[in-house]
Amino acid sequence: MQLIMMGAPGAGKGTQAAKIAKKYGIPQISTGDMFRAAVKEGTPLGKKAQEYMSAGKLVPDEVTIGIVRERLAKDDCAGGFILDGFPRTVEQADALNEILKAQGRSLSSVINISVPLEDLIERGVGRRICRSCGATYHVKFHAPAKENVCDACGGELYQRGDDTAETMQKRLSVYESSTRPLIDYYKQSGIYAEIDGKQKIEKVTEDLENVLHSVKG
Ligand code: ADP
Ligand code: AMP
Repeated sequence: MQLIMMGAPGAGKGTQAAKIAKKYGIPQISTGDMFRAAVKEGTPLGKKAQEYMSAGKLVPDEVTIGIVRERLAKDDCAGGFILDGFPRTVEQADALNEILKAQGRSLSSVINISVPLEDLIERGVGRRICRSCGATYHVKFHAPAKENVCDACGGELYQRGDDTAETMQKRLSVYESSTRPLIDYYKQSGIYAEIDGKQKIEKVTEDLENVLHSVKG
């Protein structure tokens, strides 16, 4: 299954993609996570990405497409994958089609998690992530049993530098201008589905699984 999880920043892509990846045994490919790992390692890619990420802007297409192209060529993607946070521009979507075509495959489904704009800042600002295993929490909507401690592995939770109200605002405006047009792009493909992301996490997962039941390879 070749899947794309779409949605605005804070819509719940990462939360849901992690569950689907586990259930179907396919890798979750998050460009945001890949950039954050590069920033942490201090690689040239990380240094370049950091400038854009901290400003709430998109990393240039040629850089982003390059890392996805390399990632999708890895053996663990042979049985499918779930993309989380890519594509974010029409150029990235076109490149993805070409990459898959060259591999003799195509997208199985594009699922958009739809959440009203006014809820997204609160989701972003309250997000906390485990430093050890990367699990995602929310101070109000998905709080860990013990404050700032990961339920899954006991790791310390942290807040992303770009999850401030100000940078979230900027990221949402970039989403509106550059990424939202992808909804129409994929609606025309016949493999597009939309899910109400305002519901509780578990209900969003249930709806997502219902969509995936009818998706073929
Ligand atoms: P994205 O990957 O789309 O940016 P995340 O999956 O990281 O979004 O979710 C953003 C924040 O919102 C996280 O703190 C997460 O725990 C929380 N969240 C995710 N889904 C829901 C939901 N359905 N209802 C309330 N909060 C949610
Ligand atoms: P995310 O973790 O998906 O919220 O992404 C965090 C940041 O990483 C974004 O605000 C961008 O700066 C960068 N980024 C992630 N994915 C992409 C992408 N597909 N294209 C460009 N920039 C991206």
